Amino acid sequence: MAAAYSLAWDVPLHDWNTFHLDARAHCLATVHDAAVLPALLAEPALRNLPAMVLGAGSNVLFATERFEGCLIHLQCHSARILGDDGDHVLVHVDAGFEWDALVDWTLDHGLQGLENLALIPGQAGAAPIQNIGAYGVEVGTFIAAVHCYDREAAAFDRLPTERCSFGYRDSVFKREPDRRIVTAIELRLPQAGATNLAYAGLAEELAAMGALQPTPRNVAAAVRRLRRRKLPDPAVTGNAGSFFKNPVVARAVAVALQSRFEGVPVFPAATAAERKLSAAWLIEQAGWRGFRDGDAAVSAQHALVLVNLGQATGPQLLALARRVATSVQEKFGVTLEPEPRIVGATFQL
Ligand SMILES: Cc1cc2nc3c(=O)[nH]c(=O)nc-3n(C[C@H](O)[C@H](O)[C@H](O)COP(=O)(O)OP(=O)(O)OC[C@H]3O[C@@H](n4cnc5c(N)ncnc54)[C@H](O)[C@@H]3O)c2cc1C
Repeated sequence: MAAAYSLAWDVPLHDWNTFHLDARAHCLATVHDAAVLPALLAEPALRNLPAMVLGAGSNVLFATERFEGCLIHLQCHSARILGDDGDHVLVHVDAGFEWDALVDWTLDHGLQGLENLALIPGQAGAAPIQNIGAYGVEVGTFIAAVHCYDREAAAFDRLPTERCSFGYRDSVFKREPDRRIVTAIELRLPQAGATNLAYAGLAEELAAMGALQPTPRNVAAAVRRLRRRKLPDPAVTGNAGSFFKNPVVARAVAVALQSRFEGVPVFPAATAAERKLSAAWLIEQAGWRGFRDGDAAVSAQHALVLVNLGQATGPQLLALARRVATSVQEKFGVTLEPEPRIVGATFQL
């Protein structure tokens, strides 16, 4: 039987983050069975070190040359059906399951809901951290519970969705980073129902594909086509997807912006008193799309994506992100917040 975890020291992280930054980690622990987490964390060599989970590294920016702690990578990846009430099926998925492969797994089992979230990189265990969302859908809608190891309580826990505090790119896991190691998620997925085509461009893409009565599988295919066209591929050009969250502002602020700047896109937010703005639009209007400083750049394809064109360092990308956010703040009075986890630095303007 394979060991339940293995340790590697002084590990190069180039292939462990989708920015392809050349940082290193003091230690990388690969965990094959989540039950060993307490033993791993009690290892004398690790006990007093910071520990952070690293999934596929698609939402992190290593801002220093070295992470002086232990990165924990979960490699448990089974999925199984727990129950079926006729309308919905409850699915248990280990944290290490690759997200996009899970979307296909659910479609293969006649389940729907996750099709709009196709092709988001990363592991299933990371999905609840920022409540991944795309094309009008957030994963929190389908999460029944999150299983984790709570380092503060030194105990395994199961958080039903009410305890996860899901919001726009937000959750209790994101607000208390490193406290809980997500070991598995439970999804409650419908077996039938209407597909969600509300997001601009999705219905048009399906029509162009000839899918006039689209199935969830058609929707996943359309989302994958759209994403491949719109976003730089991290396998070719290092990036972490959207670098900034879409800012949520008071309704009055959005109205004032609309009166000062023509064509400001404004979207509904979680409450009637708030509105969501397009970070991509603000960045583009501030003149950053395609801007390059050395190998750190704002993608010419999508203004919201920062890219590493080759040898950019974490500090260089972070400096560029700060310049972009500062100029948006100066031009529009709107504060941009980074979406990826910045490791080893804080994002202060
Ligand atoms: C090209 C591209 C497109 C993207 N598109 C989208 C999108 O449309 N929507 C969206 O929401 N995101 C998007 N992302 C961001 C990213 O894919 C998601 O946030 C994804 O869930 C990150 O998964 P990961 O395994 O790579 O996590 P990592 O990047 O490894 O980790 C991200 C954070 O989650 C924590 N974490 C990861 N796993 C666990 C765990 N098991 N337990 C506790 N903490 C954990 C880490 O400590 C870190 O703080 C995109 C990224 C890229 C590169």
